Amino acid sequence: MWLRPKRVRTRLTLWYVGTLAAILAVYLVGVSLLLLWQMDGILKRLAAEDLETVKGLLYFEPDGQVEVRQDYHHHSDWKQVQERLLEILAPDGTILYRNERLGDRTLGGLPFPGEGEHGYSGRTATISDGTRVVLISRTYDLAGKTVLIRAGYQQDLIWKQLKGTLWVLVVASPLVFAGTAYAGYKMVGRTLDPVTKMAHRAEQINSERLNERLPVETPGDELGHLATVFNSMLSRIEQSFEQLRRFTADASHELRTPLAAIRSVGEVRLQDGATAEEYRDAIGSMLEEVNRLTGVVEKLLTLSRADAGQIQMQVSVFPLKALVREAASLLEVLIEEKHLSFQLTGDENIGVEADRLYVRQAVVNILHNAVKFTPVGGKICARIACDGPLRAELAISDTGPGISPEHAARVFDRFYRVDESRTGTDKGGGLGLSIAKWAVEANNGEIGVSSSPGNGSTFWIRLPAVGCPPYEQN
Ligand code: ADP
Repeated sequence: MWLRPKRVRTRLTLWYVGTLAAILAVYLVGVSLLLLWQMDGILKRLAAEDLETVKGLLYFEPDGQVEVRQDYHHHSDWKQVQERLLEILAPDGTILYRNERLGDRTLGGLPFPGEGEHGYSGRTATISDGTRVVLISRTYDLAGKTVLIRAGYQQDLIWKQLKGTLWVLVVASPLVFAGTAYAGYKMVGRTLDPVTKMAHRAEQINSERLNERLPVETPGDELGHLATVFNSMLSRIEQSFEQLRRFTADASHELRTPLAAIRSVGEVRLQDGATAEEYRDAIGSMLEEVNRLTGVVEKLLTLSRADAGQIQMQVSVFPLKALVREAASLLEVLIEEKHLSFQLTGDENIGVEADRLYVRQAVVNILHNAVKFTPVGGKICARIACDGPLRAELAISDTGPGISPEHAARVFDRFYRVDESRTGTDKGGGLGLSIAKWAVEANNGEIGVSSSPGNGSTFWIRLPAVGCPPYEQN
């Protein structure tokens, strides 16, 4: 492990050079073998040519001795032939001729059966003094007598050639390695440069500087992709942080207002010795604020438990219309107080499959808003219908002020209120619709609003349904 360099750059360069060395070694061995094979072939071919040359220069002396024609001694072919090892034998192995170069050494000993009879015989042999030679032989008919001519090439020649070539390669290798290592090191450095820059920038990002992003130098490659992925992760984290920050600030604000009201009412009453009636009034308004506080705290708790995934849905099938009727009955007093008309229509048998408690909470919140925002004498309609065979829709319309499109997109956000200046009984915490949204979506439903200022609002929820007639749309 201690040999493993720390830096990726060094490791990659070493890998690069190591792999190159292995490939080069295999290449060298391959080239050497090929050279050997080729040179062996060339030598055999040359030897065969030599045999033919020699054959043309031979003649028998009257005493039966074989000789080479003297007048050819200065012939260029002959010179070449003299550089080889040459031996001429009778079929019984009697040596008829040896050239000067061979001297008194023997080139291959007694002929083996069939040697050179059917074309050239080629082999590698060790001659009497131990020299390795490539040997070619052939049987010829010379003036009616059979002779076997053998030509040998010293293998040293091949080795010398090969050694020369290998030597050049071996000497050049370190230079090639050094060059490759340098180029590789530079190349890896350039490739990893964006990573270094990303790391440098990432070091500077903390919770206060979440708006910073990693540099994306080459968007098309893997590193660019990595930076893009990290950047979109940073965007999500930044968004969550921002949401959390806003939530904390809004929640503190929401809790502080009723607490300040309780305190000021208490302080004022304590200062000016009031009557029992006035004390009762003060306690009454303090309790009202406490109720508001309790409401906000409960909603906050529900949302934070929902965020933490601690709320388990108890799914059952129940008729939607009965649930809406039940929710409306909870608001009956308020509806009567404002002389509102409430109308509920739709099939009694349409059932939904969801957690009844949380769906009721969502419906109560939407209905409560409709009651709050509809002016005295206004009208609220709740319609239940099937939206396809597997989906039920509940739409709650009112004749309230309506919501403009830019607000409509945000009314489901936490603590979002269209009109911040609203006061009195109308004043809400801006959490009702965000809880409704969570409750509906946690039950595989959808929630939305269609509204325009001056024309009232229609809040709708869609939930998984049972009991909707197939293909029939109401
Ligand atoms: P709140 O407790 O303030 O009602 P909600 O989350 O229930 O909080 O609603 C958010 C905001 O959406 C409200 O403050 C109000 O401005 C707007 N809103 C909700 N329901 C209606 C409606 N039926 N008509 C007009 N505006 C509405």
